[in-house]
Amino acid sequence: MKKNKLLKVVAVIGAGVLGVSMFAGCAGSAAPQGTNDAPTTQTPPQGDNKYIVMGTNAEFEPFEYREGSEIVGFDVEISKAIAAKAGKELKIEDMEFGTLIVGLNNKQMDFIAAGMSVTEDRKTQVDFSEPYFTSKQMIIVKSDDGSIQTADDLVGKKVGVQLGTTGDLFVSGTDGVEVIQFDKAPLAVMELKNGKVDAVVIDAEPAKRLVEGQDDIKVLDVPFTEEEYAIAVRKGDTELLNLINSVIAELKENGEYDRIFKQFFDVEE
Ligand code: GLN
Repeated sequence: MKKNKLLKVVAVIGAGVLGVSMFAGCAGSAAPQGTNDAPTTQTPPQGDNKYIVMGTNAEFEPFEYREGSEIVGFDVEISKAIAAKAGKELKIEDMEFGTLIVGLNNKQMDFIAAGMSVTEDRKTQVDFSEPYFTSKQMIIVKSDDGSIQTADDLVGKKVGVQLGTTGDLFVSGTDGVEVIQFDKAPLAVMELKNGKVDAVVIDAEPAKRLVEGQDDIKVLDVPFTEEEYAIAVRKGDTELLNLINSVIAELKENGEYDRIFKQFFDVEE
């Protein structure tokens, strides 16, 4: 029953994103509204075989984020290994999370590596690789707010989410919660600090990074909805999917996965 409701939310989000400027998040190259023109900065010409294109939303530290003008992160390292295996150069297409699946199916990228959780609904639109990371949704609140201690306490509250994410789906599917959708997670956190929302629901690792060094907000110690991240390709693109799966397996086998993990996460040795 609840599931039907969740699917409906996805459909609405899917339809909604087509109406907004699709590339608002791209460096200085928003496409005119209503067109499918790719942003000029990072997209190779179609049919150019030199490149393999990763689609992502570089606002999701430590998986993908900007360091100066460069996009770096855990997913970028995995994507570099995919490019190397394919014998191509890696290009990164940075766009709003909610537009990635549409972008993939419009051939603006070859695959999505964006901390994207496998969901039943997404599986009807893309093919997923083997999972490469296990995550959870977490709740960020003001440090002095004692009224929210578990997910149940979100009922009756204003909750900020990132549009089209599993956090959005979860909260939108819970009766009695007022959901406020943002294009970017850091904006939701800013509104929490400003008192415009009571909580933010977002994936565990980015949640930790977003509160780091800030006394006025904290992550609640009550994870919910275990999820798995995987890389998405267009339906039926089995050649690329097999290549990606072999890269994930190799990285795990040869110790590279652990090296990348240590590079981007606080690991206690
Ligand atoms: N894991 C979440 C999802 O798949 C959020 C991903 C993101 O914001 N990059 O919806």
